[in-house]
Amino acid sequence: MLIDSHCHIDFEEYAGRIPQILEEMARNQVTHALCVCVNLADFPRVLALAESHFQLFASVGVHPDQIEDASPTVNDLVERARHPKIVAIGETGLDYYRQNGDLEWQRARFRTHIRAARECGKPLIIHTREAGEDTLRIMREEGASQTGGVMHCFTETLELARAAIDLNFYISFSGIVTFKNALAIKELAKSVPLERMLIETDSPYLAPVPQRGKTNQPGWVRHVAEEIARLRGISLEAVAKATSANFFRLFKPDFIL
Ligand SMILES: [Zn+2]
Ligand SMILES: [Zn+2]
Repeated sequence: MLIDSHCHIDFEEYAGRIPQILEEMARNQVTHALCVCVNLADFPRVLALAESHFQLFASVGVHPDQIEDASPTVNDLVERARHPKIVAIGETGLDYYRQNGDLEWQRARFRTHIRAARECGKPLIIHTREAGEDTLRIMREEGASQTGGVMHCFTETLELARAAIDLNFYISFSGIVTFKNALAIKELAKSVPLERMLIETDSPYLAPVPQRGKTNQPGWVRHVAEEIARLRGISLEAVAKATSANFFRLFKPDFIL
């Protein structure tokens, strides 16, 4: 059993294709996927997917790259997080790679998400890119370790991974780990403890080898797990078992059918 801890299959490219997406998951023994919200306008679509399919869970949040969207209030998030299929707050975080200028709005938005997570007791899905120091500082200042969560699609240093683990967070690997030239990420995938690791596709982005260049989908998280198994010299089953157990320990979904 494998779980895709981060995908965006509510996006338009999947319209009308959800049955095929779920079939491809089943073919690859991918039992569940977490559909991650990127703005409040799309939240009803994300929730509807999770409500209609036992394989899918969802989150609520406004992505740090959603520059035109108004930042949510703590209440906006907490209200929407009450639903039992909403298992996390996010994605949130800091992105100094894609955004520049005065990014105080991004930091404020990140703080709001951490406060909401603490209020509703659900874990955080954190996106961090070239903003490691500020991400950690804000996580500490806002008490993110109280809810824990996941550093998704992790591409930063081992030092940052360790600091996040110390704050009660998991480290999630995407299809990047399968890319030939991603040597630093391959090293990371060997060093992060298995009991702190999650796997994801970040669909529609980052399709893993051998599907590279296509529109990614949750079923293909299997390739991520296979590469991590190969790198660590362990079985695919061992990676599947550990990362699925981690998923359930972190997100504690109320019902699993
Ligand atoms: Zn992200
Ligand atoms: Zn994402």
